[in-house]
Amino acid sequence: MDISTVSELVRTADPQQWRPGDAWLAGGTVLYSNGSEDLQRLLDITGAGWEPLTVSDAGLEIAATCTIAELYAFPDAVPADRQWQALNLVRPCCESFVASFKVWNVSTVGGNICTGLPAGPMTALTAALDGVALIHSPDGTSRRVPVAELVVGDCRTALAPGELLRSISVPAAALRARTAFRQLSLTRLGRSGVLLIGRLDEDGGFVLTVTAATKRPVQLRFATLPDAAGLRAELNETIDASLWHDDVHGLPQWRHYMTDRLGEEIRAQLAAPEPAPVP
Ligand SMILES: Cc1cc2nc3c(=O)[nH]c(=O)nc-3n(C[C@H](O)[C@H](O)[C@H](O)COP(=O)(O)OP(=O)(O)OC[C@H]3O[C@@H](n4cnc5c(N)ncnc54)[C@H](O)[C@@H]3O)c2cc1C
Repeated sequence: MDISTVSELVRTADPQQWRPGDAWLAGGTVLYSNGSEDLQRLLDITGAGWEPLTVSDAGLEIAATCTIAELYAFPDAVPADRQWQALNLVRPCCESFVASFKVWNVSTVGGNICTGLPAGPMTALTAALDGVALIHSPDGTSRRVPVAELVVGDCRTALAPGELLRSISVPAAALRARTAFRQLSLTRLGRSGVLLIGRLDEDGGFVLTVTAATKRPVQLRFATLPDAAGLRAELNETIDASLWHDDVHGLPQWRHYMTDRLGEEIRAQLAAPEPAPVP
């Protein structure tokens, strides 16, 4: 779609160049789908030259401009001795996109998070792994915010006007955790109506991240794996009726029911001994 109000494309990733009427442009798959009646300039960050994925002993840094295709290819490139078994989540999360060839190859991890869709699979992935967003502001300062707190509602984020998401840091401890993934859509190729990720850390801690079913990510944290009743009670305590998402991709009642059910499946999977590797 043409955005006929736009008169300038500026190649920059400098937030101090941002002014009202500007939008950061990454893959453009949302910007050009939704259109706009007031945007005047697009600030294109795709030429910033940020390394898409950087591995270190501290963990993984994902540049905001990393594409879905680059992320999907990444698990094969990580040396096995890192023992980052949580990278098992990368491909199911990427596959949770209703992705055309274009969305797969040009849309970005940062663009997905900044769009703030409840079903955003990159929000789900990075929130579930305790990813922390590095944000640069137009006043020259920077701040860090957990991804789970960056998306605050349906297509709403905690970004102030002009703030730029630079990267997401995923800690090595979360990458070493055992994980379990469940995703449901009402139709075979539909957008996620429920997407849950469970994480069992090396210290025995359990984290359940609920996305798509709720308007924003919801995380439950336990010092040890709870029993079924404990998990159900915590889910019902934490997610009040107003948080269940309601759109064409699922009724709130269905999302609530399936969250309870898939949460229990995840809990039971992670409670069972880890399957031996296939020889
Ligand atoms: C056919 C189709 C299917 C889709 N299916 C899904 C789906 O299943 N699930 C889903 O979640 N989405 C889906 N989308 C929406 C979209 O493609 C994705 O959310 C995608 O990841 C957005 O990334 P992008 O780089 O194209 O974002 P852009 O369109 O470039 O940007 C999206 C928004 O984020 C802002 N932004 C981008 N990068 C940054 C940054 N680094 N810092 C601050 N702000 C930034 C932009 O200003 C804009 O407001 C679909 C879109 C299409 C067209």
